Amino acid sequence: MASSTEAAVLAAVPKQLFIAGEWRDASGGGTLEVEDPATGEALCEVADGQVDDALAALGAADEAFATFRQMAPRERGDILRRAYDLIMERADDLALLMTMEMGKPIAESHGEIAYGANFFRWYAEEAVRINGRFTVNEAGSGRVLTMRQPVGPCLFITPWNFPLAMGTRKIGPAIAAGCTCVVKPAKQTPLSMLMLARILEDAGLPAGVVNVLTASSSGAVMEPLIRDPRTRKLSFTGSTEVGRTLIEQSAQQVLRVSMELGGNAPFLVFEDADLDLAVEGALLAKMRNGGEACTSANRFHVAESVAEEFAQKLAAAIGGLKVGRGTEDGVRVGPLIDEAQRSKVSELVDDAVGRGAKVLVGGERVDGAGYFYRPTVLSDIDPGARLLGEEIFGPVAPVRGFRSEDEAIAAANDTEYGLVAYVFSRDLNRAFRVIEALDTGMIGLNQGIVSNAGAPFGGVKASGFGREGGPEGIEEYLETKYVAMNVP
Ligand code: NAP
Repeated sequence: MASSTEAAVLAAVPKQLFIAGEWRDASGGGTLEVEDPATGEALCEVADGQVDDALAALGAADEAFATFRQMAPRERGDILRRAYDLIMERADDLALLMTMEMGKPIAESHGEIAYGANFFRWYAEEAVRINGRFTVNEAGSGRVLTMRQPVGPCLFITPWNFPLAMGTRKIGPAIAAGCTCVVKPAKQTPLSMLMLARILEDAGLPAGVVNVLTASSSGAVMEPLIRDPRTRKLSFTGSTEVGRTLIEQSAQQVLRVSMELGGNAPFLVFEDADLDLAVEGALLAKMRNGGEACTSANRFHVAESVAEEFAQKLAAAIGGLKVGRGTEDGVRVGPLIDEAQRSKVSELVDDAVGRGAKVLVGGERVDGAGYFYRPTVLSDIDPGARLLGEEIFGPVAPVRGFRSEDEAIAAANDTEYGLVAYVFSRDLNRAFRVIEALDTGMIGLNQGIVSNAGAPFGGVKASGFGREGGPEGIEEYLETKYVAMNVP
């Protein structure tokens, strides 16, 4: 049963589609149910957008682009800054809503809201710094002029694990660059994005610049937009499997794409590391979002001489975390998003245990309502265990020993993914050798978290391409036009 505060927060969420600055029902009037993963109970229903709605949203983005691209950069920045302020003013309600629809503990929802809002503040400051170049050509007879222009209407598809921040990471730089967009949040967590649309409306964003489409049939609704020539850019955050399909669909019209895909982050602890700091970093890298993060440490490779001690310390720390509904005091680990995700985590643990892994703590579901799984630490991992190669996306930490630096690097790189790696060592020479040898887009050196609005977030290999955040993030929304000037 929702408390009266929860009911009031839910009641304030617009449940319709946001198209051309208006809130509308889906064509056909259908709805889709949103549930609380901590109880399995329905929270509310939102509009279930159809292909016609999607085309209307793209039409609105296309129409708005003609004027929005002309808006003064300072004005675009001011809108983003006002939206940042509004998010922070409404943070308590947004955090409660996020915890209800996604399950993460309320303190982590606050963390995501501050992180997500910061993309608006950061790009508010970048909107006025989009520069071109003017140079004399080599022969001295001509001039090279380059200008930076917005790419045009964009499609954004976002996952359920960070319902707000995965949207603001795209919307912030797009608005700063002068682009318009259609955003499709995950069907499990549409509420935070609907509230964000209301905030952008309140901040004075012109109609049609951001359109939000909630839908249960993502593939059917988005494919026509991906193939539509009015769309000029697709930015997707989600699984590698879906990313591959979207890249194929995008190829037909040679659509510009950014892909923030899955991860399988190695967490390396060398014998010279500060072990307590490494455990602290491991808690963050593994347990933030209950392990449901693309940056989540998926496997711990630890120097053999300290592996046992590290595993025991990690088990003690992880075993002490309170599991429960994220709204309750002191809860550090919420539920997984749904039964399918919990079954996958459970299968991966059973597979590892079946191959001889030792359970130091956890290793089982929590009985009762909701999709809870006990925080788990495993040691003695067989090299063939599936959880070394697959994204666990749950609160499970497998610890394996290594004998040499080369072995550690080889193990870390032995994956199709390349999003992030964590390195713990007090030896700076070693740390840099290892960092240079790792095939990832990001590294956490002696720290378990890398996300930062001012830094380029993104991966290599099957973790995707493109960067979000920092000066690199706005590049994704800009085209370069070069003018060859004849100056005899
Ligand atoms: P997902 O199944 O790939 O879904 C992501 C989004 O794509 C959702 O909005 C989903 O809609 C939509 N979608 C699914 N199939 C589609 C299709 N055929 N056409 C168009 N859209 C489609 O991923 P998820 O389970 O939500 O999220 C977890 C994954 O995201 C993990 O692999 C994680 O590593 C990755 N992730 C990566 C980053 C990063 O920055 N690299 C950040 C966060 C998460 P529905 O909700 O309707 O299915």
